[in-house]
Parts: sequence; structure tokens; C-alpha cells
Amino acid sequence: MAAVTLLIQNGTLITAGDTYQADLAIAGEKIVALGQNLSQQEPGGVAEILDASGLLVIPGGIDPHVHLQYPQGPNRVVSSDDWFTGTVAAACGGTTTVIDFVEAGPGETWMDAFESRLGESEYQAVIDYGFHMSFNRADERSLAEARSVIEAGMPSFKIYMAYDNIRLTDAEMLIALETLKEHGGLPIVHAENHDVIKHLVGRHRAKGHVEPRWHPHTRPAAGEAEATQRALALAEIVDSPMHLVHVSAAGGLDAIRRCRERGQPVTGEVCTQHLLLTDALCASPGFEPAKYIMAPPLRTNADTEAMWGGLENGNLDFVVTDHCPFTLAQKRGERRTPEFRRLPEGTVATPPEEPWSDGVPPFNQIPGGAPGVETRVPLLHHFGVNQGRLSLNQFVYHTSTAAAKLFGLYPRKGTIAPGSDADLVLFDPNCEVTISADALHQNCDYTPYQGMQVRGWPRSVLSRGEVIVRDGEFVGPEGRGRYLKRGFYA
Ligand SMILES: [Zn+2]
Repeated sequence: MAAVTLLIQNGTLITAGDTYQADLAIAGEKIVALGQNLSQQEPGGVAEILDASGLLVIPGGIDPHVHLQYPQGPNRVVSSDDWFTGTVAAACGGTTTVIDFVEAGPGETWMDAFESRLGESEYQAVIDYGFHMSFNRADERSLAEARSVIEAGMPSFKIYMAYDNIRLTDAEMLIALETLKEHGGLPIVHAENHDVIKHLVGRHRAKGHVEPRWHPHTRPAAGEAEATQRALALAEIVDSPMHLVHVSAAGGLDAIRRCRERGQPVTGEVCTQHLLLTDALCASPGFEPAKYIMAPPLRTNADTEAMWGGLENGNLDFVVTDHCPFTLAQKRGERRTPEFRRLPEGTVATPPEEPWSDGVPPFNQIPGGAPGVETRVPLLHHFGVNQGRLSLNQFVYHTSTAAAKLFGLYPRKGTIAPGSDADLVLFDPNCEVTISADALHQNCDYTPYQGMQVRGWPRSVLSRGEVIVRDGEFVGPEGRGRYLKRGFYA
């Protein structure tokens, strides 16, 4: 056995399948042994010992749906976490792997877009990360690139059914599914009905319903349910597996359940916000609901209850954040790039075309998204485990293991076993925290979870054997994170 560099003693180890007391030995980047009284077997050879008495030792969280430093929409407003602040926030919140997206611009090849995204991440990211490729067009050149993209470690492709410019029509989606099936790629689908949204945005604007509170009215749950059913029908026609991102409507989840019962290979994810927040937050006049402008929007209490049910019975596989923060100034229409420690390359900071007269931009001009990467694991622990909805093993499964399996990272990530990367969280289940934006590391001046009280927070976090968070604060070097060349889904 290689020389042990770090020993974690007296912790309660939790995996998706087991709960047990054991010591854990790490050599370099890997877990090398689990067992009782490991220290006595390694006299003098241990560089560091962490005492995990009273703590849970869990696999590092995996958030496979984040948007760091992401230029959104026609105005290219860039999300306010860059690769450093976003991954530091993730780490402090117990997440040691994120998967972000590559979206090629017009005229740019998918592989060129990947290279330029990598150019942003590789000197800044502090945890390991991968990418999904956006299947944002179905032209000959892109189809011919699919194989190279998969071989470069991105076997999952995002397909948008909504949004001008990047969405695929049903016919294009069939072509995409056929192409991915041929090469072994996994389609991951944003299911909302584009025409419904377009129509309702027009209707509401014509009626003068332009305040942020109108946003959810333009993206109804029935539109998500319909698009989910349609996506799954297309998958059935092509005989392709499919993953649904950010399921938020009970009707969409129901479509997934029916397909699974028939044996169709379908998986689904849910965002923290669609488990914990409802559209009641979007009801007030004025600017306040702008904080919750995102797609899909916040849904009803019945929908959030359905999402918890989906996690409990396994029709939803894991919990993600869709972390895509914008500062309140950005939400208010300020086009200026947020205060990155350094400006991301290629970012054009355009001034506002017209300042909004009353300080409240129309809902369809507000960048969509909210922060969440740092709070996901503690929130799921508190509202899942403490409130009796999930076992600790289900909590680990939904925050780490299931995503590792679907996205080709298992068993390197997502579990605690000899040979796996030592990506671990020493989680204090009794630490009481009142969530507040100013105590978080996310580069955003608000959190949708402001004031929520949770019991349980990460104390120390290891990434590939290195302690990068101690007592809640990031202590690692910048740029230590590595790009993960992912394999096929399991
Ligand atoms: Zn997203």
C-alpha cells in the first residue's frame, strides 16, 4: 500500500448503500483503506490526522448542472460567479465536482467552444469539473463533430426545446437523438413548450403585464408537462435513453414515472429551488420577484410536494442547482459585467440601451437564474434528512452517487471506497446555520434561501486527498481543479 498521507478517524461513513463507523486512509489523491483503528497499522507514516468524531464522512457532492461565467441571452449578460468564486462556493458547501455547459456561438465549432471554455476554467477552478455540450443546432458540421465531443469526455448533450436560437425543433431533435444513439451519447433535455411561452409573453406584454411577477405566468406547468411527454415520445421513437433536467412540474414528473414503469430508460433531476420555494415568492409587485426569475419558474406547493415524492420513490435521481447567479444590479438591467476579479476573456460589457424609468425592467429583459451551488447539500440534508423525508443514504445518493453514475464518473467519484478519489466532506450534522448571502462565498448579493435555518453544514472538505476547506473556509490554491474526461453513463 502506498504511503498514507492523511487519515480520517472516528467518523461515521455514509455511502448510498451503507452507514458504518470506520477510519479512512488516503494516499495522495486516492482512498486506500477503510477499517478499524487504521492508525495503529500505520505508525509514524501519516502526514495528517483529521478527527471526525461526531461528524459524518460523505462523498463530495456532485452538482451536474451549473452555469459559471455564462453569457446569457441576446445581451450576453455574464453570470456573476467566475470559475474561482463559483468553485470556492461549491467547495465550501460540500460539493467537489461540478458539470457546466459548453455552448458554441454562431460560426464556432463545438470543439473550439470547448477549448475556449477550458481556457477560462483551467487556471481558476478549485474543484474538478466536466462539461455537457449544448446540442444547439443540427447541421451537418455539428453532427459530424458529435463523436469527437464524446471522445473529449463529454458524452452528455443538452437539448433545449425552448429559447430562440439554441432550441431544436421536433424534427431536429429526432436527428440529434439518432446521432447520439449512433455514438453512445446521452441527451439531456430542457423541456418547456417554446410556442406556449412565446405566445404568453406576447399576450402579457400586450396587456401591460410586464412586472417581474408575471414571469411564471408565461411558463406554465402544463407547458413543461407537454414538452416532457413529447421529448419522451421522441426518445421512444428513436429508442434512446433520455435525461430530463430541472423537472419542476408535477405533470412532467408524472410523464417520467409512466415511461419508467413501461421500462423506458429515463432519468430526471430536480433543483433545490423546486423542492423548497414556491411561486408565492413571485406574487408581489415591483422588483422583488426578479430574484426568482428562472426557467422553469417556481411552481406551486403541490408541485414541490410532488418533487419530494419523486426523490423518495426514485423517479427523480438527483438534486442539482442550475446555479446561474446574477447580482441585483444585473437583474435590474445593468449590462456592466459584474466585478470579476478579472474579466473573462471575450466578454463585451455593453451599456444599457435605455435605463428603466421606474427601476423595474420588464420580466423578459431580466437575466434568468439564481445562485444555489453553496447551499444545495446543507439544504437537502436539513429538509430531507432532518425532516424525515430521506435517509442519510438517500441524501448521499441524491447529492453525489446518482449523478456520478449517470454522468460517467463512478466509482472514481460519488462513493467512499478504496481506489476512489478522496473527494470527501466531513459534515457536522449538528451545526446550526441561518443562511445569509453575506456569509456565503457565492459572488452574488442575495440568496433565495435568505433567513432559512438549517442544522448541518460541511466543516472540512477534501478534493483528491487535499484539504481545501477547513472549518468552513477555503484554504486551497486557485486553479487546482482538473477537467474530468467523462466516460459513458452507467
Ligand atoms: Zn441550466
